[in-house]
Amino acid sequence: MKFSEITGQKNVKKALIFSKKENRIPHALLFVGPEGTGKLGLALAFSQYINCEDPQGDDSCGRCSSCLKYQKLIHPDLHFVFPLMKTDETTLVCNEFLSQWRQMVLANAYFTPLQWYAFIGRENKQGVIYAEEANEIIKKLNFKTFEADYKCMIIWLPEKMNISAANKLLKILEEPPDKTVFILIAEEPELILPTLLSRCQIVKIPPIKDSDLYETLQNQSDLPEHDIKNAVLLAEGNMIKATAILESNGDNQQFLDNFKMIMRAAYTFNVIEIIKLTEETAKLSKEKQKDYLMFMLKVIRDNFLICEGAGSKVVSRPEEVEFNSKFHPYINQRNVFTIVSEIEKAHFHLERNGNAKIIFLDMMLSIARVIKS
Ligand SMILES: [Zn+2]
Repeated sequence: MKFSEITGQKNVKKALIFSKKENRIPHALLFVGPEGTGKLGLALAFSQYINCEDPQGDDSCGRCSSCLKYQKLIHPDLHFVFPLMKTDETTLVCNEFLSQWRQMVLANAYFTPLQWYAFIGRENKQGVIYAEEANEIIKKLNFKTFEADYKCMIIWLPEKMNISAANKLLKILEEPPDKTVFILIAEEPELILPTLLSRCQIVKIPPIKDSDLYETLQNQSDLPEHDIKNAVLLAEGNMIKATAILESNGDNQQFLDNFKMIMRAAYTFNVIEIIKLTEETAKLSKEKQKDYLMFMLKVIRDNFLICEGAGSKVVSRPEEVEFNSKFHPYINQRNVFTIVSEIEKAHFHLERNGNAKIIFLDMMLSIARVIKS
């Protein structure tokens, strides 16, 4: 990864580049900052930069043999440590999960610990860096560098180290091997052994500037400008949060389009059209189907509030405001409770793995009946 691929963080990049140019690269760096600020990407870009055979000004070249290996995360002198979880008493080290780790990081270097745990199928567990891992670190560092200037050991979330792993790492950092750079990446530095902290040069990674976040999101997506501005406003410099907000916006637009069509079909009791639209919904993933039902609940609730003269309580996107202005007369005290209970019933059956086509069709036919009456 090159520095140019990382959103914002101009000052951090500058300081890191300066340390290489001045030949003052610390043995151990600790990148500290909140979630979604690009810490892992910066660690990768820095490691690639200090090993690049032909650096171009303030960035790695991206073309030399070192960069090519770095960009696939397969350089023999690049090592990773990250939290895992044991399911039994067997030894568990990061090497066993390296291909999944590469896949995750290469797809998108901005992710949360929970997203990582979910990716390796352990969503409800807490990750740990075990003492065995420290032995692995020692083993890896005992080899001389294969081809690079520096060996880089990136430790993602050192706060997840158990005490014996932390003590072993401390020993290594007390007598750092030559030409080795440790980059520790932490979100909760208060959980790290103070003696370990004192061995590292701390680099604070602040939230991403709104203007930088806006620029990246605008280049990455073709969503309307007000959606991007809104996401930036809510994300507080967190790329992961901004992306999640935009993704749900995209879904909501799709949901709204489908909802508009299906309400039109319901009002004219066009059963063929209702079947077609519910079958489309049934093709979504189960999570999206449930999201759609939650979206419907919100629209119905909003429109009921507007109908009852409490529209000031409703917060919605501009497209929804326009739709609601026409739709709210159709939702009233006579039908709202039936509609809500039909949506809740559908949600209940989806959770229990019912047939989505039948569930959505039943729900829509019942809603069509009460909307028309
Ligand atoms: Zn290069």
